[in-house]
Amino acid sequence: MIQNAKIHFNDMGTPVADNFDDVYFSNDDGLAESHYVFFTQNHIAERLTKHDQKHFVIAETGFGTGLNFLNAWQQYNALQSEHELPRLHFISFEKFPVNHADLVKALAAWPTLSAYAKQLCAQYPMALAGCHRLEFDEGNVTLDLWFGDVHDSLPGISCQNTALVDAWFLDGFAPSKNPDMWQQSLFDAMANLSRSNATFATFTAAGFVRRGLQQAGFECKKVKGYGRKREMVVGTLAQANDYASTPEYYATTPSQLSQVAIIGGGIASACLAYQLSKRNIKSTLFCQDDALAKGASHNRQGAIYPNLQADNTPPSEFYAHSFLYSKRFYQHISDLGFDYDHNWCGVLLQAVSDAKQAQQQNLVEKHNWPKALIRSVTTEQASNIAGVTLPYSGLFIEQAGWVNPAQLTQAIYDAVKQKEYCQTHFNTDIERLEKTDNGWLLHTHSASFGPFSDVFVCGGEHSDRFEQTSAIPIQGVRGQVSHVQASEHSTKLQTVLCHKGYFTPANEGLHCMGATFEKDSKSRNVTEQDNYSNRAQLNKFYGDCDFASTLGQISGAKAAVRCCFADHIPMLGQVPDNQDLMAAFANLRKGKHYGFTAPQQPYAGLYVVTGFGARGLCSAPLATEHLVASLCNEPRPYSERVHQAIHPNRFMVRDLIRNKV
Ligand code: SAM
Repeated sequence: MIQNAKIHFNDMGTPVADNFDDVYFSNDDGLAESHYVFFTQNHIAERLTKHDQKHFVIAETGFGTGLNFLNAWQQYNALQSEHELPRLHFISFEKFPVNHADLVKALAAWPTLSAYAKQLCAQYPMALAGCHRLEFDEGNVTLDLWFGDVHDSLPGISCQNTALVDAWFLDGFAPSKNPDMWQQSLFDAMANLSRSNATFATFTAAGFVRRGLQQAGFECKKVKGYGRKREMVVGTLAQANDYASTPEYYATTPSQLSQVAIIGGGIASACLAYQLSKRNIKSTLFCQDDALAKGASHNRQGAIYPNLQADNTPPSEFYAHSFLYSKRFYQHISDLGFDYDHNWCGVLLQAVSDAKQAQQQNLVEKHNWPKALIRSVTTEQASNIAGVTLPYSGLFIEQAGWVNPAQLTQAIYDAVKQKEYCQTHFNTDIERLEKTDNGWLLHTHSASFGPFSDVFVCGGEHSDRFEQTSAIPIQGVRGQVSHVQASEHSTKLQTVLCHKGYFTPANEGLHCMGATFEKDSKSRNVTEQDNYSNRAQLNKFYGDCDFASTLGQISGAKAAVRCCFADHIPMLGQVPDNQDLMAAFANLRKGKHYGFTAPQQPYAGLYVVTGFGARGLCSAPLATEHLVASLCNEPRPYSERVHQAIHPNRFMVRDLIRNKV
């Protein structure tokens, strides 16, 4: 569990870390020092204007109050008015995040940065371990905040053998006050993630730091320190190491994404088109329906909350971080002026049985999730939160809530379309995909489209309909949600209730009540029987509660098929060919993780983005961002273990490792 920093402000108003007995920045114009030591001595300004990539990556040890980041962002913006620059990507590691109030107070010292500080404070995340991706200036500036010890976080970064980092801000309290951080393993990890000609700059001139960095491969030199400080150290790594945390069998082949097609019109497609547009990549969308979000994204109200577990598993990490990102992402869509019905009213997971109660207790006690994310509530507290009397205790996810998925999907598309980054073809049922020498062709029964360099299949339950995708082990689960008329009592409900299904606060006089769960059915037809089941289920748990017993008629319903995988986590990445994987990675059967042959990749340029189940609203924004970042060879927002957990090769790789194929 992550602990927030314990801070006091000294007589000069400078924040001081109690645990380290050291200042966050110099008493003597910290901003000027930050600028000199890190920005100038890494020659960021010159390098930004001459960079050979579409993104420039700075990585920092010790985010602290974010002063270095804010300065870099401000300098970047100033340069941008005169030059065409790559996007700025800032990765920072922080073991003891400053809490929000201290952050606001510390940054108030810099009036020239106030516009930037305000935006940082608005998005500053809770103290949850792992990578929080924050985006500013329309995604032109990205901040990956990795909460946790830098020694734990660095090995978790997902990286192929192309390296990531252009410049290091080697900050952190003085080595004498924080010896645990300044270790050889840190310097080695820095070298592993560095691109050729990456630089570092650090305020310290400690000999063992310089020697450690030299040992890691950096050419180091002393230069004049800031102000009265005599020396500091800078250096360059001439040649990148051949390092990868991603094994070959979980690689993602980078792509230029020059002609992009998206098949499907749901929330995943919308998010994907947005993440592409952020990088100035245009896409063409094909939807078999006459409008967006007619599939699983079409309920009146969909609950958004993360699927957390007691253990610190990859799925827990995936859902927790995806959820927090989706909140920021949807807020941004609202800020752009694109509206959708929603209410961040929280979600109450109710302990409707003894088994559920034990499971919930285990979840909060074992994992120690931040209370800002999820906390236990007594029956009385649950009732107070809900505004109606409830018979169960539970867990409360305060930042969660509901949205209208169809309106949200449309709002995201409208944001993409406003920038003229997406064309749409409705009533266009793509039946067949054909790979040609010029790229992929998309065929309906009467027309053809393309060629496309890259095709993303986001077709929900239809994702396995193509010859190339037919082996994807997707499972369809039909669910029906009933719309029930609110009563005077039920309109008092102020939060989403999750029992076995879910029940939403009223919107326009109707509650959503559901959902049924029917495996192996792909029917979207509404049935009376399912409406009956939904009401029976609500009554089973809440029959004695006024809000449930006074509900009116069921006035409508929607049915959809959510598709998922056996491991309850979606699938994003290039469509695998199982024969190809078996041949290339045959050594895995013998327990050898080397000596592979290069896969032929017959489906290069064809990707699946599917299997979100009922959790697309929560996870599609960050999952699509991860895929696009990987294809663009940028830093990835998910850790390596989550990258592997969502990778399409995972089922085949697991079988090979167990020698089960
Ligand atoms: N760069 C910061 C700024 O611009 O405000 C100042 C950094 S402050 C001098 C040092 C930071 O390093 C602290 O926030 C501290 O919690 C963090 N830190 C110390 N040891 C660390 C470790 N092992 N892993 C990650 N962060 C660490």
